[in-house]
Amino acid sequence: MEKMAIGIMLGVGSDPMESIQKVLDVGVDNAQMGRPPDEYLSGAKFDELKKAIDEKGITITTVFCGYDGESYADIPTVQRTVGLVNRDTREERLRKTFEIADFAENLGVKRIAAHIGFVPEDTSSELYGEVVETIRRIADYCKPKGMVFALETGQETAEALLQFIKDVNRDNLRVNFDPANMILYGSGEPIPALELLAEYVDGVHCKDGKWPTKEGELGTEYPLGQGDVGIDKFIATLKKIGYEGPLTIEREIIGEEQKQDIIAAIELLKKLRG
Ligand code: MG
Repeated sequence: MEKMAIGIMLGVGSDPMESIQKVLDVGVDNAQMGRPPDEYLSGAKFDELKKAIDEKGITITTVFCGYDGESYADIPTVQRTVGLVNRDTREERLRKTFEIADFAENLGVKRIAAHIGFVPEDTSSELYGEVVETIRRIADYCKPKGMVFALETGQETAEALLQFIKDVNRDNLRVNFDPANMILYGSGEPIPALELLAEYVDGVHCKDGKWPTKEGELGTEYPLGQGDVGIDKFIATLKKIGYEGPLTIEREIIGEEQKQDIIAAIELLKKLRG
């Protein structure tokens, strides 16, 4: 792939075979792919999916882990339901993560990523230690496959994430930097956050949004270039830190509006990337 290749975040829904065509429909050839339904993770449906991806000439740059029962309704709901922090669902989700890592490996994809949830702020707490250990287990599972595990940004400050990465202490742990999430969760200005995490960033989401206006609520996502990120500054900063990975457009709505927003985002990124 070329440097800063423009791609999309592809949620595959219940019909991945149909969904993958969306990559070509907007005029790109690479994507980060969401977790497919379980029947596609291995066996005959997996073979069918892999063949279709290969035949269409699509490069999957990352497989994103998602878990049953997650909801992004508001911040307390995210805290309770998203990722690997909650003890009640952690072991089951860890097993699912390993399954997704196997799926990615079989597809020839060297990177998986996830929202791991709100990492506890108190680094001396028992829960913090458990989350550190959980992420070590994922990194260690990926390591012999030559794969990296990337943490999606947004649910904590860049300083807290950096401390967490140092505490996990695994060389195949990376960051998938989503500047809009920093804003949507009120976790801090995205550009200084990107500079702070620079050495760990091996993937990005090109997404935009505006700050939350009420405590406990999320901000609002906007089409790329219309929110508070400052996409021009974001791309300039990526160049400054020497980032050469894909520019993965994420637009978390569905239907025709999503497609049109993505097409407009591709044009914008082509201008900014040069
Ligand atoms: Mg994202």
